[in-house]
Amino acid sequence: MSFVIDVGIVLRLSDYSETSQIVTLLTRGHGVARLLAKGTRRTTKDRFMPGLDLLELGETRFKLARPDAGLGTLAEWKQQSAYPRIRSDLARVYAATYATEATLATTTEHDPHPALFDALAALLQTLDIAGEPLTPDGVTIELVRFVSELLREVGFMPTMRACVVCGKPRTAIANARFSSSRGGLLCVACAAETPESRPAPEAVARGGRVGEAPAAWLEILDYHLTRVIGRPLRASRQMLRFAGAADKM
Ligand SMILES: [Zn+2]
Repeated sequence: MSFVIDVGIVLRLSDYSETSQIVTLLTRGHGVARLLAKGTRRTTKDRFMPGLDLLELGETRFKLARPDAGLGTLAEWKQQSAYPRIRSDLARVYAATYATEATLATTTEHDPHPALFDALAALLQTLDIAGEPLTPDGVTIELVRFVSELLREVGFMPTMRACVVCGKPRTAIANARFSSSRGGLLCVACAAETPESRPAPEAVARGGRVGEAPAAWLEILDYHLTRVIGRPLRASRQMLRFAGAADKM
């Protein structure tokens, strides 16, 4: 395979040898790519690229791995934005970490999702806004918007308009429940026949906007993500606590 040029966001970095790192990028046109970056470790004196940092966005030239090989090769990295203000605020760090973890856990390599790339870049850009501090609700709203876009892109967005089993409209459902395995809202009767469900927060069950009840939306999407992935995200508990979700499961 030949070298390609794309833009990417650094989702994960790990040391590979004295002088090399493995960098996991979300690229716009080539999806998630795991690349060997030689000479990028900060301890190296004669490196040909500046050190890479988590969550920065840059232009990159790389070679994808062959189907039978694990790692591609990073040839060049030109940083375009490091979003420095995210690092100055713990809440923004939680939200950005949550978003990258969720992206890594729900996507596969070399499967391009340009809309997902744009949504992540937009989230980081918003979290990096100077001046006006983002309120806790503001940070949560941005994260919920991103997670919704992520779930839509990877095909796991739950249906909240009606009971996913019998089709009863949500306005006619009392004490609605939510099931991750069924993929959305359930009425009480259908929930009784479903092994996995939990109460749907009132604001979510009546179709309230994200801006009206950000913590309730984060709570239900986090519950869903945890089951889609098969484990909670590491950033999950801190993010839920910060958002003020009622149920910190
Ligand atoms: Zn039903």
